[in-house]
Amino acid sequence: MRRRGDNGGGDETLRFTCDFLWMCQGYYRHSAGYTPDFPGMDRFRGPIVHPQTWPEDLDYSDRQVVVIGSGATAATMIPAMAGDCAHVTMLQRSPTYFYARPNSNEVADMLRELEIPDEWTHEIVRRKILFDQNTVIRRSFEEPEALKRELIASARAYLGDDFDIETHFTPRYRPWRQRLAVVPDGDLFKCIRAGTASVVTDQVESFTDTGIQLASGRHLDADIIVTATGFNLSALGDIDFTIDGAPLNFADCWGHRGIMFTGIPNMAWVFGYLRASWTMRADLVSGFVCRLLNHMDANGAKTVVPRLRAEDADMPAKPFIEDENFNAGYLVRKIHIMPKQGDRAPWIFSQDYETEKTEIPAADLEDGTLIYG
Ligand SMILES: Cc1cc2nc3c(=O)[nH]c(=O)nc-3n(C[C@H](O)[C@H](O)[C@H](O)COP(=O)(O)OP(=O)(O)OC[C@H]3O[C@@H](n4cnc5c(N)ncnc54)[C@H](O)[C@@H]3O)c2cc1C
Repeated sequence: MRRRGDNGGGDETLRFTCDFLWMCQGYYRHSAGYTPDFPGMDRFRGPIVHPQTWPEDLDYSDRQVVVIGSGATAATMIPAMAGDCAHVTMLQRSPTYFYARPNSNEVADMLRELEIPDEWTHEIVRRKILFDQNTVIRRSFEEPEALKRELIASARAYLGDDFDIETHFTPRYRPWRQRLAVVPDGDLFKCIRAGTASVVTDQVESFTDTGIQLASGRHLDADIIVTATGFNLSALGDIDFTIDGAPLNFADCWGHRGIMFTGIPNMAWVFGYLRASWTMRADLVSGFVCRLLNHMDANGAKTVVPRLRAEDADMPAKPFIEDENFNAGYLVRKIHIMPKQGDRAPWIFSQDYETEKTEIPAADLEDGTLIYG
């Protein structure tokens, strides 16, 4: 990569050039999280805070805190704040699946006790976690009702039979159609049981001077409102790309294994797994890009661009991630800015490590879908 400074010092505009662009920009806007436009927000007299832009000096001791949201962020923050503020209320529009499990790994602990070498322990624990995660994902499609019962029972074990699980912890969707959030050692449930936190399932009608007016007619008093309401999905780091002077509309492109895109030469991006560790797919993508660059070097190619084959021309277009597969709010809100996927390899983006772990390393770089120049 060559770098030229257009003017010296201060706010200089820098121009970078490269032969191959590898986008590792993540998938959400780092500058600000997503906050819905709740009516009356300007009336509330206390701070309204999004976890992504948390003020370091926010003092919540002895304050009534309402956290709007029921995702992993809310479930992480509420137990962390519960003992330190007067009370914290999780206000959710609809329930999420939580999975209470010990904050340790039994297999890892056992292998360490036996003084098994670290690299063996790592490999065995990695396989065990993958196996368990895959079992849960498979069951979420094959026997969703049984899995649903087990997840709800894990909440009930902490909250007791007298708690209204039906209202607060019984989601309306199939498990894993949205993120399944782990609750380590049941910490969220423990603080609800202890009374330092509570959960309210209702709709925000408006913010008021002193809290939140709910659709049910109830008013939630608050000194601080935390909007754990998600993030803004960002395609290509919000960069306005042009190709030969023409603006790039990313949504017009077809994804090639979800790594490269039709019409965009010499560019790959990293989009990891939504149901497994992000980095497992980052590893697979890295292997693919290195193999591709070596293949280009070996063949003296300077450019590579994915292109549909003649037989792909009438392929039906599907969303980058199908709604039936995964429909978390941040994807649904912005799916229209994402590229398309097709119904056949290599235009599919399966989000399935089990198939991709063999398919991506074995991908044929001369299958007619990658055009070299
Ligand atoms: C709330 C939340 C919880 C998550 N939990 C998990 C989890 O438990 N396990 C898991 O595996 N993954 C999780 N993820 C996914 C997580 O995003 C990834 O694991 C990981 O952070 C992605 O790494 P990355 O390097 O690809 O992108 P990021 O960590 O997002 O890094 C991208 C970098 O690119 C920079 N950037 C973006 N656009 C531009 C631009 N235009 N110009 C210059 N720089 C730019 C950003 O500032 C940032 O530094 C979670 C994500 C969120 C939002």
